[in-house]
Amino acid sequence: MRPICAAISASALQHNLNVVKQHAKTAKVMAVVKANGYGHGLINVVYALAEADGFATVNIASAIDMREAGVDQDILLLEGVFDEEELRIAASFDMTVTVHNESQISMLENTQLARPINVYLKMNTGMNRLGFKPSDYAAAHQRLQQCDNAANITLMTHFATANEPTGIIEPLARFKETTKTIGGEVSLANSATILLHPEAHADWVRAGIMLYGATPAGDTPAADFNLKPAMYFTSELIAVQTLEKGESVGYGALFTATKQIRIGIVACGYADGYPRHALTGTPIAVNGTVTQTLGRVSMDMLFCDLSDLPEADAGSPVELWGDTISVDAVAQASGTIGYELLCAIAPRVQKKVVE
Ligand SMILES: *Cc1c(COP(=O)(O)O)cnc(C)c1O
Repeated sequence: MRPICAAISASALQHNLNVVKQHAKTAKVMAVVKANGYGHGLINVVYALAEADGFATVNIASAIDMREAGVDQDILLLEGVFDEEELRIAASFDMTVTVHNESQISMLENTQLARPINVYLKMNTGMNRLGFKPSDYAAAHQRLQQCDNAANITLMTHFATANEPTGIIEPLARFKETTKTIGGEVSLANSATILLHPEAHADWVRAGIMLYGATPAGDTPAADFNLKPAMYFTSELIAVQTLEKGESVGYGALFTATKQIRIGIVACGYADGYPRHALTGTPIAVNGTVTQTLGRVSMDMLFCDLSDLPEADAGSPVELWGDTISVDAVAQASGTIGYELLCAIAPRVQKKVVE
């Protein structure tokens, strides 16, 4: 079998949940598990995070999968429902729906439901993605209060710049001003807010990336927040080549040896979810030692420098990311963020849950 694997650490997920709880104190924790648990496998994550108070996703199919796997905590649909049929299903599975626009309120008013459904009413405080403008929020809230299908109404917003030290001051003020006469629980905080802005923890936090042990805060490594990587993306060398001075490796011949050099051929490519944009010099570990990638990543293979690894050979273990190499370091070398790399792990990569 091809040696590539993504090992999912249940204990790291649990550790990171405890870090969330230490920060969030009395707030309840909603674990965000969209995009197949940020690539870790929805049910793997849900079982490891059984101590969470709720789960949030975007697909109703994932929400149903969670109910069928035995989840009895709250399950929030972050974009709400898209039609009346989905609304009926969501109510029958006792899900919670985000309401971010007028048509979703109309749906609630006009659909026959098995039982009233819990709602997160979303305010647009400056992200300008989803939600009611502050000026329309109280009216939307009032309509929901008068709607028999709406059970509990939680007040919600999402911050665009929570990774910046002063990034939530204005939107938080807007939210507080708008909701000062409206009762109900409040949910504001993503991972960056949890870690950087304790004044916005409110009643429910929505923890995503930090549960998976990657950083929500640009240049600050996840380890500085005491987070542990939950995914170990590993493979092996399947061949070793010696390049003479002037010889190149891979498509486009992007790396050319300036002296004789041994290189390793790794069974991992962009079809496995490794970023094709990773440049020569991206960190990678062979036999536990940090080295660098060379040349252009191909569909099924990539190349690494064995100059300082004379003992490395076909069969030597390779860490693409995990403990030695953070996913954020690979992301940085590829012009993206850890979030994107974790979500992009390909279905063909076998995932296994480890302690
Ligand atoms: C994805 C998402 C989160 C989690 O964000 P992280 O940065 O991964 O913690 C929280 N709230 C909403 C609305 C989201 O879409």
